Amino acid sequence: MDPPTPSNPSLILVVDDDHGLRFLVTTALEQAGFDVIEAQDGHAGIMAYLEHHPDVVLMDVMMPGMDGFSACAELRGLPGVEHLPILMMTGLEDEESITRAYDAGATDFITKPINYALLGHRVRYMCRSSQITEQLVTSEHRLSNAQRIARLGHWNWDAVTNEIDWSDEALRIVGLAGTPSESSLDEFLSRVPGNDKHRVRQWFHRAIALGEESDLNHCILGHDNSERYIRQQVEAILDDTGQVAHLYGTLQDITELRQAEARIRRLAYFDSLTGLPNRESFKESAKQALELAKRHDRQGALLFLDLDNFKRVNDTLGHNIGDLLLKEIAALLQQAVRVSDVVTHNVFKDKAYDLARLGGDEFTILLPLISRPEDAAVTARRIMELLTQSIQLNGHDVVVTPSIGIAVFPRDGDSVDGILKHGDMAMYHAKRQGKNTFVFYDDSMNQAALKRLMIENQLRKALDRNELSLHYQPQVDTFSGRVCGLEALLRWHNPELGLMMPLEFIPLAEETGLMLAIGEWVLATACRQTKAWIDSGAQIAHIAVNVSVLQFVQKGFPACVARILEETGLEPQVLELEVTESLLMKDAECAVQTLQALKTIGVQLAIDDFGTGYSSLAYLKQFPIDRLKIDRAFIQDIDQDRDNAAIASAVIAMAESMALKVTAEGVETDAQLGFLKATRCDEVQGYFISYPLSTAEMSRFLAKTEEPGSDKTGQSAYRAVGE
Ligand code: C2E
Ligand code: MG
Ligand code: MG
Repeated sequence: MDPPTPSNPSLILVVDDDHGLRFLVTTALEQAGFDVIEAQDGHAGIMAYLEHHPDVVLMDVMMPGMDGFSACAELRGLPGVEHLPILMMTGLEDEESITRAYDAGATDFITKPINYALLGHRVRYMCRSSQITEQLVTSEHRLSNAQRIARLGHWNWDAVTNEIDWSDEALRIVGLAGTPSESSLDEFLSRVPGNDKHRVRQWFHRAIALGEESDLNHCILGHDNSERYIRQQVEAILDDTGQVAHLYGTLQDITELRQAEARIRRLAYFDSLTGLPNRESFKESAKQALELAKRHDRQGALLFLDLDNFKRVNDTLGHNIGDLLLKEIAALLQQAVRVSDVVTHNVFKDKAYDLARLGGDEFTILLPLISRPEDAAVTARRIMELLTQSIQLNGHDVVVTPSIGIAVFPRDGDSVDGILKHGDMAMYHAKRQGKNTFVFYDDSMNQAALKRLMIENQLRKALDRNELSLHYQPQVDTFSGRVCGLEALLRWHNPELGLMMPLEFIPLAEETGLMLAIGEWVLATACRQTKAWIDSGAQIAHIAVNVSVLQFVQKGFPACVARILEETGLEPQVLELEVTESLLMKDAECAVQTLQALKTIGVQLAIDDFGTGYSSLAYLKQFPIDRLKIDRAFIQDIDQDRDNAAIASAVIAMAESMALKVTAEGVETDAQLGFLKATRCDEVQGYFISYPLSTAEMSRFLAKTEEPGSDKTGQSAYRAVGE
């Protein structure tokens, strides 16, 4: 500490009734570089202190009026005077005075007669130690403030007394501030809630036994008895024998930190809309479940659920209602799976299932332990039952159904991604099977999916590589057997897949959108070829071309047909478009408009596969169609099956009454033909007359049925077949 300098002298107050002594003391101190003020008794001394705030007080004990003991005691009682150095001047060997002086709060004493040569040193030392004390007090104050702000407390356990000395902040944190007995471990443990008590006691005992650094997070009851969370860290001080003599510990209130962590966890692992676990969270649970199943040779199941008509709800009622629906579904699913606890026993006591939302309208239900795959089906069935009830959303009645794919693990996959993929594939199969159903994954799905992928890849290149072709099947007049028309049927020759029939690839072409380009190619090719045949003299009244639903629903379809007719030069009335009954029934209103637009162009319209699509007769009347084609299924046993015979006759009679032409498909025998002749079906088509033929074969076929020479009346195809 710096000695007093002229610019920074310490101020000393000398209180003594002896004027001469005061003078000598003052002179000695001034020579040592101090500033000095004087007072002649205790009372004057206090007044002088209050006015000048000296750094050190030298006080005689015996004075008239207020003596030195009373003045010292009164000074000490003033605020901020706790650490002021007060030096009492007593008579030599006046032990009683010395004791009284300390009792009154004196810092030290100095005996008379005073050694003036040493006085300056003595006082300087007092100044220095007072400054150090002050700094210490300030830094302690700062430290405790910082600890209070950081909610950080500290404690010290003494091995000899087995007591704990807590810092103020530590006591506040553990809710013991202000309690009288607060030094024992038991007292502290009384603040630790039940579950954690044992753990904390063990931790303390381990720290004492091992003398190692360690930490522990646990719950504690705060000052208002609310549950707080603290982090403790401990360090041991060993004695000479290597035993723990002290434990120094810190404890910090980390409740807010934990809450923030929990919030972050919620955001990272939960779906904010439904509150359900999200994909990440699901994957973690699934990983555990899978490992457990593998380790214990058990099985679990994943239900992969997708809502069937969610997109429509979203599109028609808006996203707000869509969101509401998802929340509602989440609640219903929770209800449905909760009951599954019964199924999954109580090995996973608190968690018999894990419900999660992967995103959009996709949910997963994980059953970590099932006895048989059938258990998963029970849950799937319950979900379907619960979901199919109608749900009220803001005044709208909404009905949703689920498609559920089930993967059983580890059988159907030994990684989480594998199970998810297979659950998804099975769900996709459920959709293809007409939705609102559940399907178990099995390996053939994998094979089928691979095959589909391969077909799709090849199909994308089919047009460019000229792998598509058309076959033509004649349609003949039932009575004369003369060829009236042809139906164009698509074929696909692929070097790897071989000959592919339309039913093997058209659904895929529709799903992938490739059918638009393919359909246009079919239409153009059939029209161009027919025009060529007609130009070379063949009598073809109509060329029937099948239209895919994908083409039909395109806004520009009628315009496309018109353009192709224009480009190929085929008369519109020669083209007959075949649309299926189910296509028309899907959206009858819209279908009527498109059919009318096509009629305006002048083409003929036929309903294909009639009888299989549950047509409403009322609608049938609205459709501007020209022909019905009775499906092969009704023709097959027409000569034996009375029901089929009745249906075919009824359709033919109805068509006649509605002035529609009728074609029977799939005529394979003479007997069938006989029946159709008897019921006056207009035209027939089938293997009995001819298989579908390639372009070259059809050219030859047409040449055979056209009589060379003067009149070009068509010959009976029956005869042509016979030849
Ligand atoms: P569809 O329009 O009803 O065509 C008749 C189907 O029955 C053809 O099968 C034909 O080969 C077959 N068939 C004809 N006569 C007989 C018979 O006497 N007995 C038996 N068992 N079958 C007979 P294909 O060529 O395999 O075509 C199947 C379906 O694929 C067609 O049924 C049609 O719906 C669709 N399709 C064919 N080509 C096209 C096309 O270019 N575009 C579209 N969109 N669909 C097409
Ligand atoms: Mg057809
Ligand atoms: Mg048909």
